[in-house]
Amino acid sequence: MTDRRKVYLHFKPSEKLDSKIEQLRTLGRKYGFELVSDAKEANIIASIGGDGSFLQAIRKTDFRDDCLYVGINDGHLGFYTDFSLEDMGRIEYAMQSNIVEVLRYPVLEVSVDGMKTFHCLNECSIRSNIIKTFALDVYVDDLYFETFRGDGMVISTPTGSTAYNKSLKGAVVDPRLKGMQLTEIASLNNNEYRTLGSPLLLSGDRQLLLKVIQDGNDHPIIGADNEALSIRHCHEIGIKLANKQIKTLKMKDNSFLHKVKRSFL
Ligand code: NAD
Repeated sequence: MTDRRKVYLHFKPSEKLDSKIEQLRTLGRKYGFELVSDAKEANIIASIGGDGSFLQAIRKTDFRDDCLYVGINDGHLGFYTDFSLEDMGRIEYAMQSNIVEVLRYPVLEVSVDGMKTFHCLNECSIRSNIIKTFALDVYVDDLYFETFRGDGMVISTPTGSTAYNKSLKGAVVDPRLKGMQLTEIASLNNNEYRTLGSPLLLSGDRQLLLKVIQDGNDHPIIGADNEALSIRHCHEIGIKLANKQIKTLKMKDNSFLHKVKRSFL
């Protein structure tokens, strides 16, 4: 960590956090970290809060691939937060030793109607915004695969596999596997409509294309992690793994499997 010294702290100011943040700042100065007020100048972006805050910190700083992201939680261990404000001793230890390592997480690149492009670290979700099913033609690469009718679909990254995807009975995916997973939200399956009906794990070099069937209910909500996009109408959503990856700092003794075990078993 010695050649990366400009740190931007991303957090929602609150009275509860004030004294802890001040302690963190003091610790940073002690070990030669410069605190900057503009995220663009930083080469370390530290998010303080839960996984949701970490997702926001990455989105608000444009999914930079030239800096390190660090997640510091405010009490509860999360999937992206390896450090805790409740354990300053461990943060201090991490600043001066080699018990941390850099991990690279795949992100999704999503384009709407071939124009507006955005990224997701957990998942992209496409859902009906009214109490009525909506339909999508699903293409994998150039192959027409199925027509989906139901509530929606979720396309998750490996690190997002333990979030929304897991609630939909998708598989938990080791982030060392670079790919994406397509899971259904309440698909209709009968003699008229048929979908795979199980999660589909795709290799990282595949491309998904979801064509919204224009049958009157063609205004789905598109979610990028924990944010809804302000797109009112769309025809096609293209999804692939992005060329860039997010670099995060994590404790060596807190692997993905440790987190899965701690959270779910
Ligand atoms: P949050 O911090 O309140 O997160 C909500 C919960 O999701 C927390 O317990 C958090 O630890 C957990 N979480 C987030 N990312 C995770 C991951 N990669 N692996 C395991 N757990 C994870 O913030 P939020 O803004 O509400 O979180 C956004 C996420 O919530 C979305 O990206 C989506 O994955 C998830 N979500 C889940 C459901 C569901 O399970 N039915 C529905 C909508 C959204």
